[in-house]
Amino acid sequence: AKAQGGNRLAVFDAEANAREITRYGLTTRLPAALEEGEFFLEYQPLVALGDGRVMGAEALVRWRHPQQGVLGPDRFVALAEQTGLIVPLGYWVLEQACRQARAWQLELEQGAPRINVNLSVRQARNPGLVNDVARILKETELDASSLHLEITESALIGAEDQALDALRELTDMGIGLALDDFGTGYSNLSYLRRIPVHTLKIDRSFISGLQHPDAPGNPRDEKIVAGLVSLAHTLDLAVTVEGVETELQAERMRALQCETAQGWYFARPGPPDRITALCAAGADR
Ligand code: C2E
Ligand code: CA
Ligand code: CA
Ligand code: CA
Repeated sequence: AKAQGGNRLAVFDAEANAREITRYGLTTRLPAALEEGEFFLEYQPLVALGDGRVMGAEALVRWRHPQQGVLGPDRFVALAEQTGLIVPLGYWVLEQACRQARAWQLELEQGAPRINVNLSVRQARNPGLVNDVARILKETELDASSLHLEITESALIGAEDQALDALRELTDMGIGLALDDFGTGYSNLSYLRRIPVHTLKIDRSFISGLQHPDAPGNPRDEKIVAGLVSLAHTLDLAVTVEGVETELQAERMRALQCETAQGWYFARPGPPDRITALCAAGADR
């Protein structure tokens, strides 16, 4: 038994070591990857639960790694956050996404979607944020109201007044602000009074507990979701629910008067043409 335990430890060490080497390799390659144009964006529709229209699209970054293939953000966003590369990468994402949103507007006569872009903690606290966002909107000729920025609670916890002022300046420009992964953080709601958030995005972990065809729903998740929606509406905030995978979940959220949904049930993240096609189909209805 002792030998086995020793083996297991050795295997664990080897795995931990391999992971560490991979992390190190990815981290050191990040700057070159940005220079070489290895990042690209996919877009996932935000669907109005009332009439099924595509109201917006969230830009989600991917890395086409020359050896390892396409890597999702869970593999590299935290690393980029640690090294600070998330700031230039984030601006690259923002510019790319705004350019795409403008292209949709020119392509689709009506019903072009707005664009949602994730803002990392470091970006949200970057002193140049307001100026850089304003510059990107100008350069891409996108109106501020077509841009929504998604920030997580952790970007707000402990943030300096200056960072909160910056968010207020952005919303004064007409940009929408969504609180991402809502319900998973400390849920210290006091910042809801201090910054002008427009939308709460309820985290997908709550939605998986809603009724599923194969399993009975988790009654407590049902109540939490209902409570979050009602809290948002009391505060005059819109609600987006993420991670909707089944028709039943979509039905439940519609019944709760949740405005917008995102998830595999509607569409997985994909290339920009998919959004164009979905919007064009919606406009014909
Ligand atoms: P997020 O902002 O919560 O984005 C939603 C994630 O849920 C995406 O994962 C999306 O592909 C996934 N998803 C959407 N619908 C479903 C569903 O029905 N079921 C399940 N199981 N998953 C669904 P993705 O693309 O892997 O992104 C992961 C996270 O990486 C994002 O979570 C976001 O926090 C971060 N991220 C992505 N792009 C960027 C970016 O440009 N900048 C920054 N700072 N973070 C980003
Ligand atoms: Ca997001
Ligand atoms: Ca989210
Ligand atoms: Ca999430």
